[in-house]
Amino acid sequence: MNAILDEIRDAYAIVGIEVEGIATYGTYYRLRCERCGRALGSVGDRLLPGIARRIVNDQLELYATGLLGCQCGYQSERARSIAQRDP
Ligand SMILES: [Zn+2]
Repeated sequence: MNAILDEIRDAYAIVGIEVEGIATYGTYYRLRCERCGRALGSVGDRLLPGIARRIVNDQLELYATGLLGCQCGYQSERARSIAQRDP
């Protein structure tokens, strides 16, 4: 585990996405819905500090409207509850 991976994990946890612990293609980690376990793509760990959170923040609206995230709607629920708390 490295610091960037921890940061990526924390950032995605906010919207209910789990980052798998084992790298799939060297530096890529699979993303999964925390509620139903569906695969939601992957993320690379070649990010600079602070970027992972910004990426997730920038995508919050897409998660909220359901354009990103799982079909079960979990990320949408999470993103909307964050938006209400912190507009
Ligand atoms: Zn799901």
